[in-house]
Amino acid sequence: MRISPARIWRERGARYRLEAVRCRKCGHVYYPPKKVCPACRSREMEKVVLPPKGKLLAWSIEYTVPEGYRKYAPIVLGLVELQGGVRVLAPIVDVRPEELRKGMMVEAVLRRVYEDGDEGVIVYGIKFVPAEQD
Ligand SMILES: [Zn+2]
Repeated sequence: MRISPARIWRERGARYRLEAVRCRKCGHVYYPPKKVCPACRSREMEKVVLPPKGKLLAWSIEYTVPEGYRKYAPIVLGLVELQGGVRVLAPIVDVRPEELRKGMMVEAVLRRVYEDGDEGVIVYGIKFVPAEQD
């Protein structure tokens, strides 16, 4: 994995788009995107953009962090249910662990982009922060 400075510059300050795929055959939605649907083996996947806001359903606090991520420790890994029902597992940032509440609104932000070298697919880069109240 590597970071592309050009990409960070282009998207700096922008709301991150949560790009997922939906299986045209059975309707399952996958984030991160998959090429083949694990449910029905179809390869007919279409791109969909997921809503950026969701509810925090559950989380775990990871004190053991992989090499290269140590300065971020501990990492809060949250299970977020987006509006529309798709669930995403991603780090929750800008919040102290004791402030986390089940059901709190969070929104996706772009903080740092790591790309899959072969296809330019963004593999990691989604983080959620507590959402501004509407
Ligand atoms: Zn399918």
